[in-house]
Amino acid sequence: MKIIELPRIVLVGDNAIDKLKETVYGLGLKGNPLVISGQDTVKVAGERVSQNLNANLDVIGDLHEREIDRISDRIKVEKIRYVIGVGGGSVIDVAKVCAYNSKIPFISVPTAASHDGIASPRATIRGTKNVSMQVNSPLGIIADTKIIEKAPQRLLASGCADAISNYTAVLDWKLANKEMGEYYGDYAATLAMLSAEIVMHNSARIKEDISILIEALISSGVAIGIAGSSRPCSGSEHQFSHVLDKICPTPALHGEQCGVGCIMMACLHNADWTRVRDALKRVGAPTTAKEIGIENRYMIEAITTAHSIRDRYTILRNGISENEAVHLAKMTGVIE
Ligand SMILES: [Zn+2]
Repeated sequence: MKIIELPRIVLVGDNAIDKLKETVYGLGLKGNPLVISGQDTVKVAGERVSQNLNANLDVIGDLHEREIDRISDRIKVEKIRYVIGVGGGSVIDVAKVCAYNSKIPFISVPTAASHDGIASPRATIRGTKNVSMQVNSPLGIIADTKIIEKAPQRLLASGCADAISNYTAVLDWKLANKEMGEYYGDYAATLAMLSAEIVMHNSARIKEDISILIEALISSGVAIGIAGSSRPCSGSEHQFSHVLDKICPTPALHGEQCGVGCIMMACLHNADWTRVRDALKRVGAPTTAKEIGIENRYMIEAITTAHSIRDRYTILRNGISENEAVHLAKMTGVIE
């Protein structure tokens, strides 16, 4: 048996945030809400949302694991009935985990479109443990294009790269099906691939029409919901990024790392890696070790150890040697 869990309402558009109150009532949510926001994003939208709903506001600090424990306690003590996460990717993830732990609904109000976590039933908490976990899908998503288009360009480029990286994730999934007989869902895979294709196809004009990116990331989240796992949007390029998160003193953004990984993994798949690279360039995402600010040695270590990061069959299969990794990174122009 398979359970498919999807958002019930998705609102995308200019000033969508002004419709939050009606949306919440429309979803039948009652009782005390808690608005969770970040230190920068509270001014962008967090305060507005809490005033609008007459709700308590919690601005989270940098130590996310500790914040999850603190907020989960607060939810219990104050008898909070639902959580609204207002912020970038990491704030949304923290709010999502808090709601999941407390078994209450979660509404996602992203202020940036930096990765597909704005809509997916998965959360990644960076910290001492760097955990990625299955949670509930947001019950509603309110993506205000007026707010998101003002997000730092680097975050939006990173979001594009995360969507583009579905390209190799789907190739990996197909491979696992062919070589290992792993379950493969055509619908979820096609939806995830469509997100990558649409962002690549529109890479030159995505800055002018941010709704293309938002819809692509929401579709990715929905694909994860349909598949029941992150498979359609997370393959070898994500394993590569997860290793960088572990070994680099200062890792880059999630989408940026996945994008660079996607170039190299596409090459291993004998797919059109130059198309991936060129699309990343057009959206302003990094395509080399230098641009992403990560030393070559970390890049090579991440390529050679990525296969061991979790039990997921990909093009890396049992891993590749250091020589092969250097050759791959040089051939794709990731390192000089
Ligand atoms: Zn991702």
